[in-house]
Amino acid sequence: MTEISDTVILGSGCAGLTAAIYAARAGLQPLVLEGHEPGGQLSMTTLVENFPGWPEGIQGPELIENMKKQAARFGASFQVAHLNAAELAARPIRLATSAGEILTRTLIVASGASARWLGLPSEQALIGHGVSSCATCDGFFFRGREIAVVGGGDSAMEEALFLTRFASKVTLLHRREGFRASKIMLERAIAHPKIVLRPNTVVEEVLGVDEHAVKGLRLKDVKTGESSELAVSGLFLGIGHEPNAKMFAGQIDLDAEGYIKTTGNVLTTWNGVVVPGVFACGDVQDRRYRQAITAAGSGCMAALEAEKFLEAEGH
Ligand code: NAP
Repeated sequence: MTEISDTVILGSGCAGLTAAIYAARAGLQPLVLEGHEPGGQLSMTTLVENFPGWPEGIQGPELIENMKKQAARFGASFQVAHLNAAELAARPIRLATSAGEILTRTLIVASGASARWLGLPSEQALIGHGVSSCATCDGFFFRGREIAVVGGGDSAMEEALFLTRFASKVTLLHRREGFRASKIMLERAIAHPKIVLRPNTVVEEVLGVDEHAVKGLRLKDVKTGESSELAVSGLFLGIGHEPNAKMFAGQIDLDAEGYIKTTGNVLTTWNGVVVPGVFACGDVQDRRYRQAITAAGSGCMAALEAEKFLEAEGH
């Protein structure tokens, strides 16, 4: 007979690992499923300077590794598995994963949101070496440098404006003539002396792969077809995030952009009614703050709720 876990945690970023620490310490022996981005977005960043308790900062991957060790010390186990399908209304909850079927009494969804990338091989090769999707995390490293931001929505405007604190010049590249951003954000960007808007422009290649550092961009003007090079030392993607919650559509309430709707901080609902035993935390349910510390906080809440739920069920 397949063993039934008390708690399965989907995702091993900051939220999932904090949930694992709390659940493990409560004796729930949680099983953490690590998906296609083990460690989440922190594992893709460099120095984290705003996580409380690290006065000199800590490297994102190291912070994640520490959390993982901390969870393991209290009895959490880890498995690399992709969730293919879930039956959240079943008792126990059934999870069809790439590593086989998993049964659990509670499920903590901490599957995060993935930054959208352009998908260029040169961009992928230089993530963490000048290519970033997080201005708050990495902007500081570009003091006095010229950089570029891609995107035409509010995220791109916000990133560009934030990055003017550090960069000497920010070129905002957008693939169309019209911007999706709200009027106020667009006006702020247009008015800023350090920001140059370049609409109708796509990035064809990020230069500097051999040097392991961004040296520039090869751009194409989509109206004239002309190619050009822009010398920058950083490229920030502001083309949106996608919550990793599609697999729960039809079983828990998602908002218009696919984020999990929660009530009472971390309880999930279906048609407005709480789904028993299924909790969500971190970026998959947070489109507003998206910080490591807020993800960790909600991971803690989800584990405490799972513990309460199991207690009430007599486990
Ligand atoms: P968004 O509004 O969907 O904008 C994404 C932008 O990226 C669009 O301009 C899009 O171009 C572009 N884009 C997408 N894929 C691309 C690709 N492969 N190559 C080049 N460009 C690409 O996403 P968002 O800016 O993250 O905003 C999401 C939501 O959060 C919005 O409702 C926004 O208002 C809100 N938000 C608000 C604030 C704020 O008010 N402070 C800050 C951030 C986000 P197209 O326009 O051509 O599709």
